[in-house]
Amino acid sequence: MPHSNRDLGRAVRELQEHRPGKKYTAVRAELEDWLDGREETPLEAVAIMTDPANQTLCEKCGWTNGMACPECSGCGCNDHTCTGWRHREYMHPDDLAELEVAEAECPECGGDTRSGYDCHCGDL
Ligand SMILES: [Zn+2]
Ligand SMILES: [Zn+2]
Ligand SMILES: [Zn+2]
Repeated sequence: MPHSNRDLGRAVRELQEHRPGKKYTAVRAELEDWLDGREETPLEAVAIMTDPANQTLCEKCGWTNGMACPECSGCGCNDHTCTGWRHREYMHPDDLAELEVAEAECPECGGDTRSGYDCHCGDL
């Protein structure tokens, strides 16, 4: 959807207030970059980009403040020390699969205790 230049100009000036010291053209480039391939209008984009909940919490895992774990207040890097549900929700599917396998491991035979897998210790 093409945006009117007036909307874009207004949005850039608004975003510029959150990017002190940045030139209009640089802020405009940042906004246009963000909008590329998305449906939001420029003003909606600025609202999302400047929402405190969307500010990056950790550069390493890319979590934002809004994603912070309610249990440890940490980011995705705390996956292995905190068992909060938030970590699972945002965990990489491969890591989650690995974690589920580790949790399903039977202490008796070391097999996978999920039904249909290789542990039959619980079977009669
Ligand atoms: Zn946590
Ligand atoms: Zn992190
Ligand atoms: Zn077993």
